[in-house]
Amino acid sequence: MSSGDTNLPRVLLLPSSGMGHLVPFVRLASALSERCISVSLLAVRPTISAAESLLLSSLPSSLLLDFPIKPLDPSLFPPSSDPFFLQMEALRRSADLLPSFISTCSPPVSSLIIDISIASSFLPVAAAAKIPCFVLFTSSASMLALCSVFAFLSTPTAGADVNIAGGVLKIPTSSLPPPLRDPNHLFTTQFVENGRALAQANGILVNTFSALEPEVLVALNSGAVLPGLPPVIAIGPLPPVKKQPSLPSPALRWLDEQQEKSVMYVSFGSRTAMSKEQIRALGAGLENSGCRFFWVVKSAKVDREEVMEIEELLGEEYAKRVEERGLVVKEWVEQEVVLSHRAVAGFMSHCGWNSVTEAAAAGVRILAWPRMGDQRVNAAVVARSGLGIWPEKWAWEAEERVVAAEEIAVKVREVMGDERLAETAAQVQAEATEAVQEGGSLDQSCGYLLKKL
Ligand code: UDP
Ligand code: UDP
Repeated sequence: MSSGDTNLPRVLLLPSSGMGHLVPFVRLASALSERCISVSLLAVRPTISAAESLLLSSLPSSLLLDFPIKPLDPSLFPPSSDPFFLQMEALRRSADLLPSFISTCSPPVSSLIIDISIASSFLPVAAAAKIPCFVLFTSSASMLALCSVFAFLSTPTAGADVNIAGGVLKIPTSSLPPPLRDPNHLFTTQFVENGRALAQANGILVNTFSALEPEVLVALNSGAVLPGLPPVIAIGPLPPVKKQPSLPSPALRWLDEQQEKSVMYVSFGSRTAMSKEQIRALGAGLENSGCRFFWVVKSAKVDREEVMEIEELLGEEYAKRVEERGLVVKEWVEQEVVLSHRAVAGFMSHCGWNSVTEAAAAGVRILAWPRMGDQRVNAAVVARSGLGIWPEKWAWEAEERVVAAEEIAVKVREVMGDERLAETAAQVQAEATEAVQEGGSLDQSCGYLLKKL
């Protein structure tokens, strides 16, 4: 990746906070620069999580530019506010710094690609500066359809089911992101404002591919979701950035010792924590399932605040008791490497959209356990596409209801033993592979972008 040649279009990429946003931006930067588009990735530092900081420090410094943000007055927000949302809000309120920032860039900037969560504040500034601006939507096309229509509902709160494009997509109230029930929640105000602003974008990039959400992509581009939306461009599944293989970790060594397609990987992404009680029930469920498992435990939203040891969470004896069949870690793992390991067959996932696309690319079947935000909308995509199953009664984080060990054990066994599901997941993988092959939909979308950027 580089930002060198002056004859190429020069594109600035601006992600917002959290790994779920930074990861697809880094992958997009790599995909564009492989296709002769010169890119710079704007970084907001300090980052909220250590994982973001590590990822940024692994990138070539020639790719990065630091974007300044104005500090937020913390007294304006409830003390319990999500630190990732606050960072997004700070970035949203710093959009007026963009023109002077761009004027210092050399070679000059030809266009921008910005994160959905900052769209409504940056799109008007880019338009005033006469710079084409695209939005990277960091979740599913189904979630994009929801974001597009939600702002235009007669009462934009999560009070009723949302029926999109004459029934192409139906999102029950129970699947809407829980903060949308509160019109004053920071997520709701951002979501509504961003949804209204989408029409101002020159195009919307989504990290998805046709086989995952065929009807929704067609409906978005035909005007059936919302007339006047700009082109929606499927660019997924964005491949991981090629890098030097790192030294094998103890976790990879453990995986190497397991039989082919025998392990369930369990992870809830970078910012979804579980209560101690639910962690214990999940531990018992995995143990009782009789299946092999590799579990990344997470008890704090922000990794820098992860203080509890595994023994404290699961009891002194747990790791020893399960060591024949299970490995539990607390550290960050390279998920794309884990998912493509020959021993891994299943993935208990919160359905963060990057995790879903990575599982699709690896042909790993998903046991969906959405916990918050967009995750139920994404879990419905997983179930519809045949990539996995979703026990819909399993609790949201906000419900504070513990899903019992026995229910978990039953579903883990079901997913690991389901040959039909293994076949449909392999089919999704074949379609994902086709999308990223030479001449596939990723190539075509990048070709289209090259003309527009
Ligand atoms: N991830 C990882 N190792 C971990 C946890 C997460 O590599 O231990 C990566 C994962 O592969 C994905 C991203 O972090 O690319 C998380 O994004 P996702 O949309 O799945 O969920 P979020 O963390 O935003 O809820
Ligand atoms: N999102 C959206 N409109 C917005 C802000 C967010 O559609 O105005 C989507 C976005 O794609 C994001 C998802 O909602 O990935 C869930 O947002 P959240 O911040 O809960 O999770 P994150 O992606 O940060 O893990």
